[in-house]
Amino acid sequence: MSLIVQKYGGTSVASLDHIRRVAMGIVNTKRKGNKVAVVVSAMSGETDRLLNMASQVMVSPPGREQDALVATGEQSCAALMAITLESLGHRSKSYLGLQLPLITDEVHTKARIVDLQTEILHDAINEGVIPVIAGFQGVSNNGNITTLGRGGSDTTAVALAASLKADCCEIYTDVDGVYTADPNICPKARHLKKISYQEMLELAGLGTKVLHARSVELAQKYQVPLVVKSSFGGERQTWIVNEEEVMENSVIKGVTLERNVSKISLIRVPDRPGIAYKILSPLAETSINVDMIIQNASIDGFADFTFTIPTTDLEKARVLVNKVAEEVGALEMLADNNIVKVSAVGIGIKTNPGVAARMFKSLSEENINIEMISTSEYRISCVIEEKYGELAVRAVHKAFGLDQTDPKHDGDNQNE
Ligand code: ADP
Ligand code: ASP
Ligand code: MG
Repeated sequence: MSLIVQKYGGTSVASLDHIRRVAMGIVNTKRKGNKVAVVVSAMSGETDRLLNMASQVMVSPPGREQDALVATGEQSCAALMAITLESLGHRSKSYLGLQLPLITDEVHTKARIVDLQTEILHDAINEGVIPVIAGFQGVSNNGNITTLGRGGSDTTAVALAASLKADCCEIYTDVDGVYTADPNICPKARHLKKISYQEMLELAGLGTKVLHARSVELAQKYQVPLVVKSSFGGERQTWIVNEEEVMENSVIKGVTLERNVSKISLIRVPDRPGIAYKILSPLAETSINVDMIIQNASIDGFADFTFTIPTTDLEKARVLVNKVAEEVGALEMLADNNIVKVSAVGIGIKTNPGVAARMFKSLSEENINIEMISTSEYRISCVIEEKYGELAVRAVHKAFGLDQTDPKHDGDNQNE
């Protein structure tokens, strides 16, 4: 008898009809002789609706209250799923993060799990009850409700699978697996039957929202067998596996588009030791993640200092950096949220020197200006104007020979 953790994302539970269909699938899994624990996201659009209401009241609401608000989306969905399972004649109970408990740190809106108790779930499962856990949420040691960051229900599912020592964690979503690019942006993207934890982690960290980055990190750490499937049926799926299990190794595994990026520039900052520290340390203290940083060459003792942060932190960052700008005597501060980050990802990058040039060429052929560049062993990222984001993904995807030769071909050609 296997123990399976199944996670259903927002589009899979978008209406009562969807929930009923999902519930029938869960019952089927149980009928086949498996034990099952279920994690749900909020119904599609609900988290955005709640966030939008909060921002109408206040531009940058207190994190504690924002978390208390958005966690209700998963709460109502979990209860509705449990009620639906009961209506189908199966015993079921919903659980909130704080009922398990799933303990996190107190970095509101992007908390990290520090402990997870699953005794009550073990007991429920052994009594034949199907537990339905509200994803995305936890509780801090001070008793405050927290959330794990957008897309965080995947992380709840993998953490539960690790803690329950489940045989497998199944992520059900609106696509039938991981592709070489978002299939909704790049119709010629190829389906991947397998991808390594390492490459998936890079893709997820750079905007491939089919899996939350932290979920991949946990799956690798605890060696949780992780699979992405469509909740609308079909045979195709993608397994996330160890590197040595991926037979095919193309230089570039995928192309990503990160939309949650903004840029802040401080113009004519006096160029003296300690300036970068002064500008960036208030952001670090507030857990705002600074990604790319550029300081141009100093002219007359002044330089421009530019960096990127998540757009979701822009308002907070603007206030903090404005204060520093005055203190250090910068001429002005500029903020720009009309940018995106396009990245090419693959473990072959470190051993293939021509990769960056090929990416820049493909962007130049589309007349797309690159505003910032960063590279690592596994990726090359370019910041460009937002309106060119999707075009850039398709161009880079093509340039690396990732396009399917026939768009109607069913795609599975790598790793088969
Ligand atoms: P859920 O609500 O089920 O958690 P998400 O919206 O978080 O679903 O993730 C699924 C979406 O991820 C897909 O609809 C697709 O547009 C997007 N996506 C982005 N990049 C990829 C990729 N490389 N492969 C598959 N899906 C991708
Ligand atoms: N409902 C949350 C979100 O929309 C968490 C999730 O779906 O995983 O981000
Ligand atoms: Mg998601």
